[in-house]
Parts: sequence; C-alpha cells; structure tokens
Amino acid sequence: MAESRKPVISVHDLAKNYGELKVLRKIDMDIYKGEVVSVIGPSGSGKSTFLRCLNYLEELTSGEIDIGGVSLKGIDEDKHNKKLNEKAAKVIRKNVGMVFQQFNLWPHKTVLENVMECPVQVKKANKEETKKKAMELLARVGMDGKADAYPTQLSGGQQQRVAIARTLAMEPEVILFDEPTSALDPEFVGEVLNVMKDLAQAGMTMIVVTHEMGFAAEVANRVCFMDGGYVIEDGTPEEVFKHPKSDRAKQFFSKIL
Ligand code: ADP
Ligand code: MG
Repeated sequence: MAESRKPVISVHDLAKNYGELKVLRKIDMDIYKGEVVSVIGPSGSGKSTFLRCLNYLEELTSGEIDIGGVSLKGIDEDKHNKKLNEKAAKVIRKNVGMVFQQFNLWPHKTVLENVMECPVQVKKANKEETKKKAMELLARVGMDGKADAYPTQLSGGQQQRVAIARTLAMEPEVILFDEPTSALDPEFVGEVLNVMKDLAQAGMTMIVVTHEMGFAAEVANRVCFMDGGYVIEDGTPEEVFKHPKSDRAKQFFSKIL
C-alpha cells in the first residue's frame, strides 16, 4: 500500500533561472501513477521549462526532482550535481517520454522506422520483435496503414500520432506532452486528443501542457495553473475551473473560457 502511494515524480522547491530571469520560482508537486495532469497558464509562465526540467532537457538551478528512483538536483547548491544529473538523466530518459508541439519525426525515415529507431538504438532491442511491437503501436494510434510512408506525406495530426507511437515504443512510465495539438490545423486536433484520451484511460501517467480546456476538463483528473513561475492552482478540473482561488486564474479563464 505504501509502495503504491509513492509518487512517480516528486518535485521539491524547483527553481530555474536563465541568467537573471527567474522562470520557475518554487515548484512543489507530487505526481502519482495513472494521474493525468493538465498544466495550463499564460504564455511565458514557465510551462515548457517545467516539462523540460522533468526530462533533464534543462539544468535545474535549485531544488530537486525524484523520478523513477533517481534524483536531479539544482546546480546552484553544488556544482558537482551536474555530473550526477547527467548520470541520472540516462535512467530518466528511459522512463519519461516526451511529445513536442512540432512532432520532430526524422524526415528521412519511414513511419515504421521512426517508431523502431529508439528501441533498436537505445535499448538494443531485437529487430523483429521491435518491428512487431511497432506495428501494434501504430495500430493503436490508427497509423498502421501508413507504416511505409514518410513524415512529409502525412498530415500534422497523423505525424503527431506517429510521434506518440514512437514515444510509447520506449515503454515510458510517464509521458510529458508540450502543447501536442498547438501546431495542428483545427480539423486534426480531435484525432490526437482521442489518442491521448485512450492512453489516459489505459492508465498512462501523463503531464499535458495544453490550451485545450475541453481536454483538460474532460480527461485530466488534475489541473495545475501556472503563472510567473509558480503553480498557483492545483486541484481537480472542477475545483480549478469552477472555483479558482486566485484572481490570476479567474482573470485567465474569463479571457479564454
Ligand atoms: P511557456 O511554455 O509557459 O510559454 P516557457 O517555459 O517557454 O513558458 O518560458 C518561460 C520564460 O522563460 C519566458 O520568459 C521565456 O522567454 C524564457 N525562456 C525560455 N527558454 C529560455 C532559454 N533557453 N533562454 C532564456 N530564456 C528562456
Ligand atoms: Mg511552452
């Protein structure tokens, strides 16, 4: 019982500066298995930086992130932490997948090759098995019919679904999504959100930065509102959308809802 209540990700006092600019000021957050957390907030509030710290795409200035049994620590507290972080990052990247706004598929590889690349290169997985699994994942996102196509031959929605299959191929414990539908034409948003909804229902732990308030309200079981480098609201969609405590969140929702 105690084990099952251990957070998958635990963030303590996380701060991130770019020079003088304080982007994340003091973030504390525990994320548990199977939670779907929507992170919302105005542009520039630190949402992407937060996700990038979780995946060690950015160095932490101070504080600590525990994730998958290893820790990342701020380098302002001890410069040696950088070396330790780099070591921990190898474990973290296996456990934490990330899906970006711009898909980032390899343009000169087919859909199938894109999905197979990381398991074969990073995990040194068996090629035949990896291929079989990749086809299953493509079927899961409705893209098995396009296995031999190249990314440029696909719509944005299709590319993003392939990017999700590619992330799943690494069997991550958590997936971070950074505005996965923001670069899409409106007609393709729904198909990507549906894939994410299926993942959520299958029990995947997900942190989703999104402007899709409908998705946040319907699929997430937790909504975090960020502003100025702080998490100002953290609760159920009902609590945060219907009864925000802060004026900042009230103001934000009055503009977008
Ligand atoms: P959001 O995703 O909420 O829009 P970001 O995390 O991208 O916000 O950015 C937060 C702030 O940090 C912004 O002011 C942005 O200009 C700044 N910032 C982001 N990345 C960098 C960087 N690599 N160097 C300097 N400043 C950055
Ligand atoms: Mg962003």
